Amino acid sequence: MQVPFLDLRQQYQPLAAQIEDRVLRVLRSGQYVLGPEVEEFEHRAAEYLGVKEAVAVSSGTDALLMALMALGIGPGDEVLVPDFSFIATAMVILRVGATPILVDVDPATLTIDPARAAQKVTGRTRAIIPVHLYGQMADMEAILEMAQAAKLWVIEDAAQAFGAEDARGRKAGTLGTVGCFSFYPTKNLGSAGEAGLIVTNDPDLAQRLRIIRNQGQQRRYESVTLGGNFRMDALQAAVLNVKLSYLDGWNQERQRLAAHYRALLERANLLRSTNAPLRLPVVRHQHSNATFPHIYHQFIIFAKDRDQLQQFLRQYGIGTEVYYPLPFHRQPCFRQRALDPVSSFPVADAAAATVLALPIYPGLSSQAQEYVVEKIAAFYYG
Ligand SMILES: *Cc1c(COP(=O)(O)O)cnc(C)c1O
Repeated sequence: MQVPFLDLRQQYQPLAAQIEDRVLRVLRSGQYVLGPEVEEFEHRAAEYLGVKEAVAVSSGTDALLMALMALGIGPGDEVLVPDFSFIATAMVILRVGATPILVDVDPATLTIDPARAAQKVTGRTRAIIPVHLYGQMADMEAILEMAQAAKLWVIEDAAQAFGAEDARGRKAGTLGTVGCFSFYPTKNLGSAGEAGLIVTNDPDLAQRLRIIRNQGQQRRYESVTLGGNFRMDALQAAVLNVKLSYLDGWNQERQRLAAHYRALLERANLLRSTNAPLRLPVVRHQHSNATFPHIYHQFIIFAKDRDQLQQFLRQYGIGTEVYYPLPFHRQPCFRQRALDPVSSFPVADAAAATVLALPIYPGLSSQAQEYVVEKIAAFYYG
């Protein structure tokens, strides 16, 4: 049996006719950048998330970069970020000339530790970027409280969490100053190329973001501020307009697949028993009224002898990934830029050495899941 880490064709096939219809319509329309297809997506995304403004952009990275630009963050400013995330979360801070202040993560969820973040606030701190890692929200209640006390902007990196909710059912990306999303093809809601989104409840900020998106132009050929080409293609919006209607169903299926993995791992004695070789992250809002406490962008295990396990599974045709092997404080590109010589990051270091992402995507069969867990058990127990 082969269980690829991800197979995007499986998601495409049942939607092929609808997507191809819409894509053809765009190709024949002659309107390829922004325009009605993109506006439709902005309206539908804002409605789905329950937020006033949505600005469709070129990627998740650009969404984060634009948020910093629109908030006027630059040289001399400090921005708090978790030490453990995709590199873009911290790199954008350096790109605007500000200083990333790395904060270790909470061992239960690997999201930013709000108490540690509060300890790193100085007179120069302007913002915090919580990351809703793997598909569940960071501890927004504590983050919003510390941010309010310290007068910080909150820029949510919700690239892995479109549709995830807190205990009160509020969507990821809608609680901070701005929320940033990515529609890279492998995300839960994926385009057929590069695309992203910024949302906010502040209409003035949304207006600034729209100006920044288009070379700082308020009117044609009059640039009132620095901007860039951060526009979304109509073809990407066409794909997203079809897929958005299916997202809740897919996220529900991911939650079901995760519950099945958990049950199988328990039955195989891989969790909980004394000296169990695996541990799972905690789902913070598991027992709340939220419909989507965790949308399982990734299903993560903490695994003993992780690298050997990954190699073993590969021999049996099972694809896995390590998100992420290097915490930010060990990234060569950050040396002497973000490094804070007095801090250590034991939780991020331990996570980097033990996390492993198992295959999870709509359409994954329960036989495939059983095969994966059977092989994990074979690795540890023979
Ligand atoms: C994917 C991702 C990004 C970047 O999004 P792109 O669309 O690839 O630029 C940023 N942060 C996190 C946490 C991500 O997973």
